[in-house]
Amino acid sequence: MSSPNGPTPKRQTMTEDEPLQQAMRRAALRLITASRGRSEVLDHSLDTLRQTLRDDQATPETVDAAVRALESGLLALDDAEETDVARRLGAAEALPDDDSEPAPTRPPDSPRPRSLWQRWLGGAARPANVTAGPDTVLERFRPPLDAMTARLNLPAPYQERLGELRPCMANAGTVDELARYIDRLAEILVEANQSETAELEAFLVQLSRRLADLHAALRTDDDQAMEADADEQRLDQAVQERVHSIQNTLRDTGDMRQAHRIISADLDSLVQEFASYRKSQGCRRRQARERHQALNEQLKAMEQESLRLREALRAEQKRAERDALTGIANRAAFDRRIQEEAVRSARYGPPMSLLVVDIDAFKPVNDQHGHATGDVVLTQMAELLQEQVRESDFVARYGGEEFTLILPETSLKAANAVAEKLRSAVAAAQFGDSDTPIPVTVSVGVAELGQGEAWQSLFTRADRALYQAKGDGRNRVVSGD
Ligand code: GH3
Ligand code: MG
Ligand code: MG
Repeated sequence: MSSPNGPTPKRQTMTEDEPLQQAMRRAALRLITASRGRSEVLDHSLDTLRQTLRDDQATPETVDAAVRALESGLLALDDAEETDVARRLGAAEALPDDDSEPAPTRPPDSPRPRSLWQRWLGGAARPANVTAGPDTVLERFRPPLDAMTARLNLPAPYQERLGELRPCMANAGTVDELARYIDRLAEILVEANQSETAELEAFLVQLSRRLADLHAALRTDDDQAMEADADEQRLDQAVQERVHSIQNTLRDTGDMRQAHRIISADLDSLVQEFASYRKSQGCRRRQARERHQALNEQLKAMEQESLRLREALRAEQKRAERDALTGIANRAAFDRRIQEEAVRSARYGPPMSLLVVDIDAFKPVNDQHGHATGDVVLTQMAELLQEQVRESDFVARYGGEEFTLILPETSLKAANAVAEKLRSAVAAAQFGDSDTPIPVTVSVGVAELGQGEAWQSLFTRADRALYQAKGDGRNRVVSGD
């Protein structure tokens, strides 16, 4: 592939990060294969990117251009998938009628359906930007990978595999080793995506089959009701004809013996008409009973299925809002809750405050005691914070070693007191295992929601106060203006 702006730059000889680049390429190629078939525009961008990645002469500029084209394709796909999901749900709610109604649109206040990335990253559409770090390849790649994988929230079995992989990635000693782990990460992501898609598709197929069965059964009922009407009319007519015939016989026939014979024949014929009517009615009734029984069973199965799904959805929503490491609320849950609390505070008037808590010098804890011990400290910190506050307060792991606490009905003064209590409780607590306790401190930024203030601005003020607490020497509480 040649560059439009001049001669193609020569490929560099083997560098330190060559294996990593190759692993990235392999991972990207696998993800591309797994992502095909969703939209024509996207497939085209994926093909271009795949060719560019396979091209040994590709330059960073050509790869960058292909990635940018893919990015716009993905954004379009996210929107299209939201519309498609809304349309499919709308279709599933309606009976499969030939002239189907237009799909219901999302009410203006309801939350937007979350894309796969959003679900996995707890509300963040993309991993945080890679910041320039120390100069070695390992040090450049490990922090953003660590931050990205910390925020992933995959379905249970994949999250477990990710949990095993993360410490390995964090401790990878060579570029080669890290490259192998990235390859494994790509595998996990691809499989998790496929399992979610397959489950949803299987359910939709089952649902539409059941609805089609219901539709067919209702149609048969209609047909049989029409047949029953026709039979009744036929019987009615036959009865009238026989009655007339009997009346005529009585009027016209002088011979009582003959009259008796004719009337008997008419009555026999009537009895036969009745018998045949009853037979076909009985047959229809039996069929209807069987059909309704089958229908009932199907309805029951559907009810159970939808109950199971509702439970699964509820569990999924719960899981999506839980932090996989510490088990407390995660950033997605925090984002939802703070909006609710801010609305409540604005509407009903009580004050509301926010604390942003960040562990001081946590990187050295990981470096000295290992990533696994770092994880233990984070879990213990989550427990301690929850123990120290009221049940009506809301504690979340916002990300990494940062926690947020929403304190409803709490003024700035009271929130400062809570923050100070937390700070001193952390400083006095024992973290790590009891043999080698690790001293840990936190810095806390505090702010109270102002009148008419948006929650985002409250967060910015608390975060700024935290930044100041770090600047002032850490292990302290600073309240925002
Ligand atoms: P400061 O006092 O300025 O906050 O310093 P710090 O070292 O705490 O802050 P920095 O942002 O430099 O480093 C945060 C560290 O937290 C680096 C990252 O690897 C670690 N970390 C983030 N998430 C996790 C996690 O889930 N487990 C473990 N063990 N460490 C994590
Ligand atoms: Mg920190
Ligand atoms: Mg931090």
